[in-house]
Amino acid sequence: MVDIWTPEKRSWVMSRIRGKNTKPEMTVRSLLHGLGYRFTVNGPKNRRLPGKPDIVLPKHRALVLVHGCFWHGHEGCKHFRLPKTRVAWWREKIRKNRERDARNLAALEALGWNVVVVWECRVRPVALRESLAEELASRISGREEESAMVAEEAAVYGVPAP
Ligand SMILES: [Zn+2]
Repeated sequence: MVDIWTPEKRSWVMSRIRGKNTKPEMTVRSLLHGLGYRFTVNGPKNRRLPGKPDIVLPKHRALVLVHGCFWHGHEGCKHFRLPKTRVAWWREKIRKNRERDARNLAALEALGWNVVVVWECRVRPVALRESLAEELASRISGREEESAMVAEEAAVYGVPAP
């Protein structure tokens, strides 16, 4: 491969490819920060726990995983559509991702972690950020199950698109 990038640029591109520091995750991090939570993104637990979770809140024994709707196969989500070519290959790829997610989730819960999965489509709409912050707070403290609300439903009530 021809080296067309500076090391900095390459590392940025690779971080995008690996899904680290993507925009939805940064949004969630800033919401958590605003809520006053302390968390690690590159600590020993981020590196060693099953699935290398993005955001670890040690004090709450909670993890926040920000899942891209496509790669993690968000069922019933408009952002999860298989490409029109190599359909079988993609279906298998996403199926394996989902299997791995389920395995990691089970392992993390068995270790006593409260795993908060946040889908990308829940993070992106700016108009829903305030309610997302509330939802994060209650899910981190274990008071509430995952909200089924996705962006499409909010649009019904006339919330402007970001
Ligand atoms: Zn989604």
